[in-house]
Amino acid sequence: MAPTKVLTGARVVLPTGTVDDARVTVEGTRIAATAPGPSPAEGTAETVDLRGHWLVPGFVDIHNHGGGGVSFAGGTAEDVLQGVRTHLHHGTTTVVASAVTGDLDFLARHAGMLAELAQQGDIAGIHFEGPFISPCRKGAHDETLLRDPDPAEVRKLIDAAHGHARMMTLATELPGGLDSVRLLVEHGVIAAVGHTDATYEQTLAAVDAGATVATHLFNAMPPLGHRAPGPIAALLEDERVTVELINDGTHLHPAALQFAFHHAGRDRVAFITDAMDAAGFGDGRYMLGPLEVEVADGVARLVEGNSIAGSTLTLDRAFKRAVTVDGLPVEDVVAAVSANPARLLGLSDRIGSLEPGKDADLVVLDDSFELVGVMRKGEWAVTPQLA
Ligand SMILES: [Zn+2]
Repeated sequence: MAPTKVLTGARVVLPTGTVDDARVTVEGTRIAATAPGPSPAEGTAETVDLRGHWLVPGFVDIHNHGGGGVSFAGGTAEDVLQGVRTHLHHGTTTVVASAVTGDLDFLARHAGMLAELAQQGDIAGIHFEGPFISPCRKGAHDETLLRDPDPAEVRKLIDAAHGHARMMTLATELPGGLDSVRLLVEHGVIAAVGHTDATYEQTLAAVDAGATVATHLFNAMPPLGHRAPGPIAALLEDERVTVELINDGTHLHPAALQFAFHHAGRDRVAFITDAMDAAGFGDGRYMLGPLEVEVADGVARLVEGNSIAGSTLTLDRAFKRAVTVDGLPVEDVVAAVSANPARLLGLSDRIGSLEPGKDADLVVLDDSFELVGVMRKGEWAVTPQLA
């Protein structure tokens, strides 16, 4: 029989609400049961009293370029695994590896390597951010490599990912944009609107064509204007769209975050890190794809042009900030870091909430929402020290 772990005495956030002094039983890699009340389980293999700490589902990051000093976009398989481990130690038990704009052949080759890691279950797939984005809103992408979204080239990247392309960010207003959205949807790949200069009307057309995600809403798109509401209004108002938010205190003013949360509602927000190599590592000089980045005081900027170049965020910090600075209810934050992104990925049957039968992916937080424990598939990655 699989080894059993019984976690008792936790404030457990379940899909139905928060239950105090509850317990979660883990058998092997899965959650076997969740129940209120102290554990009756005498003689089980391992019982951990969580002493009133929060127990929430493992975090799911659908937009992440790396961490721990390494990049998902250009590194080796070992580099990617090191980045995955870094984010795991910050509570992210499921990560989609994001690739920034690069030469098409390079991206295709790199996707092949990432696909093998996805096949092994180390990552949950690949997100292509570029090259089919707008030069007007290029952010930290190499302008010389940008191109219009040609469906044949989109198809080339989908094929190179061997069934593990999960999402592509594109500027849908460019020639070929809407056809590319339709092609992505046909192949089960999420079409995300981002790095875009689209109008309100053009954005609605993209959603009608099948786009379902707003890539880091507010960032790398026209601002909300009263005569030109642009992509932000279109993406926030449409029930079919989930909006990504980078809650690091740099990319978004707290009021912008709360505005988005208020309009989209708790079921349509996904917190992402958009992290680059320096996440969980430190200040210094890094590469983001082909571009050089300087990280100072945790803020990543292009050396040339000073544009913000991803973040150094980890989802445990985004979680803590959302509760302690933004004042959001814990249950809403859990939806934004776990349930919603899991649903987007089509993985709700396995991850995204604490329910029997799902992977035992858990995060333990203390009273001040500092991370003290992480379990992935029944194994502690960070063992809680609660003495
Ligand atoms: Zn990104």
